[in-house]
Amino acid sequence: MRFSKLKLTGFKSFVDPTDLIIADGLTGVVGPNGCGKSNLLEALRWVMGENRPKSMRGGAMEDVIFAGAATRPARNFAEVVLTMDNSERLAPSGFNDSDQLEIVRRITRDVGSAYKTNGKDVRARDVQMLFADASTGAHSPALVGQNRIAELINAKPRSRRRILEEAAGISGLYQRRHEAELKLKGTEANLTRVDDVLEQLG
Ligand code: ATP
Repeated sequence: MRFSKLKLTGFKSFVDPTDLIIADGLTGVVGPNGCGKSNLLEALRWVMGENRPKSMRGGAMEDVIFAGAATRPARNFAEVVLTMDNSERLAPSGFNDSDQLEIVRRITRDVGSAYKTNGKDVRARDVQMLFADASTGAHSPALVGQNRIAELINAKPRSRRRILEEAAGISGLYQRRHEAELKLKGTEANLTRVDDVLEQLG
């Protein structure tokens, strides 16, 4: 799947609706200090389901909402829309019935985040799994922020392995394994309870 457009509204310094057309190939963002380069990369991570405020350089997730400036009041919500070209039907199954895939994440003060894919309400997990299965996502090695290259060179083998796994497209399996393990534990606990009851009855 190819990212084709990113639209930001009220997200950090992008207070007015701003469209960023993403062309084919490698995309670099350049500009003077403080113009919002990192905010753009964060918007991309955020719409893909990032849920750690720290990785958005904030203390709480609501810190991504435009906080106001001398001449403009703060906003009540922030929204990021990511449009992807799915004409080659590369989206994972369940998302594969249209030429374009549009993911929307909106955060409203005191309410929290809501997600949509092609206009339909979905859970954060659905969006995170969509990108994990498509071998990209909030932690994708394809998003290279400032200092990231040095970080990669100095990374421990374990972290490098994660990057290779991401590139191999198997990182979605980790989440599924974790969820399966939790279910298994719950079932084992239920079985123990059933055994106890049977023992009391017998
Ligand atoms: P540098 O090259 O120095 O790293 P940059 O181009 O990556 O800069 P960013 O860090 O993306 O710039 O943007 C920083 C700007 O975003 C700052 O001016 C900061 O005040 C503004 N900003 C961050 N969060 C918010 C917010 N919630 N509301 C309004 N402005 C914000």
